[in-house]
Amino acid sequence: MTATSSTTFHTMCPMNCHPTLCGMKAEVKEGKLAHIQGDEGNPDSQGFLCVRGRAAEEIIGNDQRLLYPLARDSRDSQDWRRVSWDDVLDRIANAMANAGGNRVGIWPGHGNGSNDYAVGVKSQLINRFAKMFGAQSWNPTMICWGLGGFGLGLTGVLETSTKEDMGENADLIVMWAANIPSQPNTARYLTAAKRRGARVITIDVRKTETAAQSDDVYLIKPASDPALALAMMHVIIAEGLHDDVFIANHAIGFGALIDHVKQFPPSWAAPITGLSEDQILQLARTYARTKPAMMVIGGSSLHKGPNSWLAARAVSCLPALTGNLGIPGGGIGPRHGSSGHGRSLGDISCTDLPPNGDHIPNQMSEIVEALRTGKIDVLLLPGSNMLSSYPDAHNLAAGLNNVDLVISTDLFLSETARRAADIILPSTSWLEELGCKATNTHLYLMDKVLDAPAETKSFVDVL
Ligand code: SF4
Repeated sequence: MTATSSTTFHTMCPMNCHPTLCGMKAEVKEGKLAHIQGDEGNPDSQGFLCVRGRAAEEIIGNDQRLLYPLARDSRDSQDWRRVSWDDVLDRIANAMANAGGNRVGIWPGHGNGSNDYAVGVKSQLINRFAKMFGAQSWNPTMICWGLGGFGLGLTGVLETSTKEDMGENADLIVMWAANIPSQPNTARYLTAAKRRGARVITIDVRKTETAAQSDDVYLIKPASDPALALAMMHVIIAEGLHDDVFIANHAIGFGALIDHVKQFPPSWAAPITGLSEDQILQLARTYARTKPAMMVIGGSSLHKGPNSWLAARAVSCLPALTGNLGIPGGGIGPRHGSSGHGRSLGDISCTDLPPNGDHIPNQMSEIVEALRTGKIDVLLLPGSNMLSSYPDAHNLAAGLNNVDLVISTDLFLSETARRAADIILPSTSWLEELGCKATNTHLYLMDKVLDAPAETKSFVDVL
């Protein structure tokens, strides 16, 4: 749907600060974006639109936008020339066919998800394309919260409770490495819970904005979260504060856990975490004795160090141990990439097809190694700025040099496109294509609001 006179469209901010997604109103006059503002009718954000969301307006009509497919003959020069879509698609398709399935890699980035969050139509289509072609397809979450999700999945607590449930029912909220500015839509429910008399605890490595709103603050050393969770479990089990009935009915491995955490008393965790033994005792007792207690785990803060998926694995045992799962106001609160219980959307990504024979794991160091050792001939980067996303940028740059053909699709000339791409495909922005997003409680259709400028295309069309 494209406007020819002044029309206001309801859409969503493209920035995806998950779990916060904000509603946006776009006013279009004579086919051009006139103004964007927060959508007070959006049930999740209720009119909120932060400065970053408001600045998204600058994407539209920006004179730095990529508008035509471009190619160059040498990565040493910025001598880009305009090419036709037909020619460039033929060149990419031929290169992929010559390389063969598993020597082609696709790594979509967050840019790809600007109007495709949680529903995953675009990302699933990319996976489907990769699976059917036999290409390597890597997940963008691996640079962010994916490892935390992996830890939660191993423990069995992938589903989360909603912010609305927190506001109405939680008597204790533990903000574990979770900060309100990172999820502003959760903030009003934290405030609502506090107004009812709920207690708020912050566990973090620094005094955050959330710490300023908390009744108790536990400042711990970086990467000591698993030690704190293990010591809390030690105290809860040793003092008989665990929920026998819930564990008997819903948990497995409790006997092994008892044996395991015996070796992790507060005296062991104190020097690791920087907390005193008394603080650990107090925290464990408060958490176990206040029900319902909701734990909000930071989106990616816990999961950045080596083996740090173990933090999510340890922390997420606590709600099960205390019977805080499956009750109003309990469980794990809103977090990156989580879904609420009962969500059941279709999946078009061909999950039944096995990975091809020479699968390169979805892990940054493995991907860099594969590029460095010449295992990939063609690399497609839809909406992803690889060189600014990977910590090991030096080795990644060397690896990208080994790839015969690198294709970057983006709105602007990114660092990766500038340094490593042979072909640039100009993308549509969130207002120039159809989109769909979901929060834990709502599903949002994002209409196409503007015509795609010049020769920009959605990556769906490119596929
Ligand atoms: S917090 Fe700001 S940038 Fe993030 S989704 Fe909301 S408006 Fe957009």
